[in-house]
Amino acid sequence: MVPHTSDGRVMFAIPWHEHTVVGTTDTPIDGPSYDPLPFEQEIEFILDTASRYLSRPPTRSDILSVYTGIRPLVKAGAGTSKTSALSRDHTIHVDHSGLLTIVGGKWTTYRHMAEDCVDHAITLGSLPDSECRTHHLQIHGYDDEIDGLSNMGVYGSDAVLIQRLAEEEPDFAKALHPALPYIAAEVVWAVRHEMARTLDDVLARRIRALFLNSHAALEMAPAVAALMARELDRDETWVNTQLVEFQKLAASYLPESAVVQQ
Ligand SMILES: Cc1cc2nc3c(=O)[nH]c(=O)nc-3n(C[C@H](O)[C@H](O)[C@H](O)COP(=O)(O)OP(=O)(O)OC[C@H]3O[C@@H](n4cnc5c(N)ncnc54)[C@H](O)[C@@H]3O)c2cc1C
Repeated sequence: MVPHTSDGRVMFAIPWHEHTVVGTTDTPIDGPSYDPLPFEQEIEFILDTASRYLSRPPTRSDILSVYTGIRPLVKAGAGTSKTSALSRDHTIHVDHSGLLTIVGGKWTTYRHMAEDCVDHAITLGSLPDSECRTHHLQIHGYDDEIDGLSNMGVYGSDAVLIQRLAEEEPDFAKALHPALPYIAAEVVWAVRHEMARTLDDVLARRIRALFLNSHAALEMAPAVAALMARELDRDETWVNTQLVEFQKLAASYLPESAVVQQ
């Protein structure tokens, strides 16, 4: 973690699925869009800052994938344009009609957000008061023994079931791409047990291929679509539509997709 970059932001480099995610925070934008593109200036800033700390300065050709997101921060009235100065806390808003809206917040505080929201709803709806149980709820796949950092470890207690699936059919044990650690059984698992229905459900959200290596994700897309079509009983038209849709999405993860911020 670089706590103070040349322009006063933070930068981090995090090991993730045998790759490194290098990122920074954040650039104010005028309005939201569904598919925000990375800014050329951000990429240059990250490469430049990383060069000062890594023994071999990274270049553009080291970038395997680029992604960006819009942070839903709550702005209290007019004032600062510096997004880093805005609170990361969540806000609960109750409408005249009684509609309860929760906005902002963070991944690391989601249980607290849920608790706050449900407590407000109980009061609003005059429901019987009962203590929130979130502190004691374990997430799906919870297992103390598993190393959550390894590739299969992210599945928690499901890992053993996926390994069993891989033993069922020789094809299920096959790697999907030489540059990434994923096997066919993970695709079959995602369709059968994780409600994956589209190619990007699998390649972006069930396994993280698109985020880790966009070119590799594009190269493995036909094999993944074929596996999915077999599981979902879909025809070639479906496969082709999925491939076209995925190519459109993946284009914005290629390093060359960056746009110059005006
Ligand atoms: C730049 C940035 C930095 C952040 N940094 C931090 C941080 O340091 N610490 C922290 O705690 N939080 C951080 N956050 C906030 C955190 O990422 C969010 O609070 C958290 O991800 C919200 O989780 P979620 O599951 O509600 O939504 P999301 O993580 O947004 O998940 C929604 C999912 O639904 C998928 N989806 C949407 N539409 C469809 C559809 N039609 N079909 C199928 N899938 C669909 C999306 O692709 C996405 O995967 C950051 C956010 C951003 C943008």
